Amino acid sequence: MDVKSTKTSPVLADSAPINKSRLGIHSSRLPYSQAGPTSSNNILTILRKKRGNFDDVWTNGWLDAMRSSSPPRKNILQNFTSGEVASDDGDIAHRAWMTKYPSALSSFRQIMDCAKNRKLVVFLDYDGTLSPIVDNPDRAFMSAEMRCAVKSVAKYFPTAIISGRSRDKVYGLVRLKELYYAGSHGMDIMFPAEEIPSGDRSISTKSTDQQGKEVNLFQPASEFLPMINEVFKTLVEITNVKGAKVENHKFCVSVHYRNVDENSWPIVAQFVYDVLKEYPRLRITHGRKVLEVRPVIDWDKGKAVEFLLESLGFTTNQDVLPIYIGDDRTDEDAFKVLRSGNRGYGILVSAVPKETNAFFSLRDPSEVKKFLESLVRMKQ
Ligand SMILES: [Mg+2]
Repeated sequence: MDVKSTKTSPVLADSAPINKSRLGIHSSRLPYSQAGPTSSNNILTILRKKRGNFDDVWTNGWLDAMRSSSPPRKNILQNFTSGEVASDDGDIAHRAWMTKYPSALSSFRQIMDCAKNRKLVVFLDYDGTLSPIVDNPDRAFMSAEMRCAVKSVAKYFPTAIISGRSRDKVYGLVRLKELYYAGSHGMDIMFPAEEIPSGDRSISTKSTDQQGKEVNLFQPASEFLPMINEVFKTLVEITNVKGAKVENHKFCVSVHYRNVDENSWPIVAQFVYDVLKEYPRLRITHGRKVLEVRPVIDWDKGKAVEFLLESLGFTTNQDVLPIYIGDDRTDEDAFKVLRSGNRGYGILVSAVPKETNAFFSLRDPSEVKKFLESLVRMKQ
């Protein structure tokens, strides 16, 4: 990776400077009032009036993407069996899929053979990988056994958590100081003060970690911080729709619709769409029943993996075997990086067949724990 190219924020498009008029949503252009104490109450009324007229989100495929981001199990199975699915055909479809993406547990020996004479580096997503997916994201806790497994892995291998959550939030859930942390889909990376990629100190800023130790931060989207805070404050109004939840992850915002009645999904989508129309430097990506609002920059979990590998001093593929375990669409960027040039192995966590750039699969966090424990046993 050419680190020098990342000296400034890697903005992909729309390079017009940020100024107040571009940052702000002009209330006169909004289809609803933002001002005054009644704005929150009004929003639902206005959005309900719009019900049945959600042309924007239909035309732009948002609703289709929202439905396909977490398709019912039966639909997934049909895609992989290309025929009628009987209720007990799940295992057959899963076995067919696993010939393409074998279990990382049964392929463990093969992975270890590849790791010979190379340093293993472990990258882990958090939600759905180390913790179960739960209705309330604030309660996505990892088990004590999982924490123990991750801690043991970090004793032998450089280990990083790369999450869509804010770095502080994911640290608060993992609580292991021996790891590297990248929050906001890799847009907020913390690494030890002594480890500077390519010796280039201009790309990072100094800070202190939770223990007061000096660290470096790499935040390629730092210029977007005021914009993200502002859009978060506006998007929070959607929580008037029953079940909707909005989270500020520092450099990105999540709008969760997991607990929203499907009939109200168009309301959520149209509201987010209308807000985002005023922010051309922000974009939407679709996760599992969540709309992720992110800056338009050329940075993702794959770039974060490359950055961390370089910060750890691994500049050639021969030195290192990176393994990335994750369950979400955003993890595919990391899988792609590892697949290109056979750099390492992506492992998709999924109980159902899915197209992926990973090499291997694990069914759920309990299998992730077994895999991590196998890595530790190999070293003992
Ligand atoms: Mg995840």
